[in-house]
Order: sequence, then C-alpha cells, then structure tokens
Amino acid sequence: MNIKEYYPNGECPDCSSIILETAKAGDKCHLCPHVFKIPDTFKKVTIGYVVQDYKTYPNGIHICVNQEFIAGEVSYETSEHGDSIEIDTSKEVYCPFEMVQNLHRPFPDK
Ligand SMILES: [Zn+2]
Repeated sequence: MNIKEYYPNGECPDCSSIILETAKAGDKCHLCPHVFKIPDTFKKVTIGYVVQDYKTYPNGIHICVNQEFIAGEVSYETSEHGDSIEIDTSKEVYCPFEMVQNLHRPFPDK
C-alpha cells in the first residue's frame, strides 16, 4: 500500500501538498519536514453486559425481541503485548456496538 493511502486526500498533514507516489514510511515530505508513517494500532477493551428484552407469547414460548450492549469500563492496550496504554480519546472516532437482533420474531418455527 502506498503511504499516501493512510493520509486524507493523499495530502501531507503539515503542508497540504499531494504526497508523491514514491513516498514510503520513514520518508520526509518533498516540501516540508513531515515524516510519513503507517498508522499505529492498539486495542480498545470494553467491559459491559448484554440486556435482552423478552416477550412471553400465548403459547408459553419466551422470545427475545431486542438486545443491547451496555458498555462499562473501557481500557486501551497495545496490540502486540496487551500492555495498558493511555489514548487521547478526544481524537477517537466513535464506533457503536451494533447488536444483531433476533430473526425469530414474531414466532419461532416450533
Ligand atoms: Zn509536507
């Protein structure tokens, strides 16, 4: 992957020039001192619980009609060794927990 793929619009974040096709990680921008780098990776670990809403139908069967994840404690760790790290969360793009909902509504086959 060309290093410019990691930069919005393929632009240098410091001088806004278009990054050269030949630029690699560790290279300096051709117009300013910015050094290109590949993205760092880390893990966000969320402890929480799942709440499932059930309906009891006239035939006595209990069916889950909705479920959601309630997030609790959050921590961040390195991808490689799982060491605890601090992250500037003001720069984190929120990623929602999207729970798959029950496909058996309104009645199960049996
Ligand atoms: Zn630059």
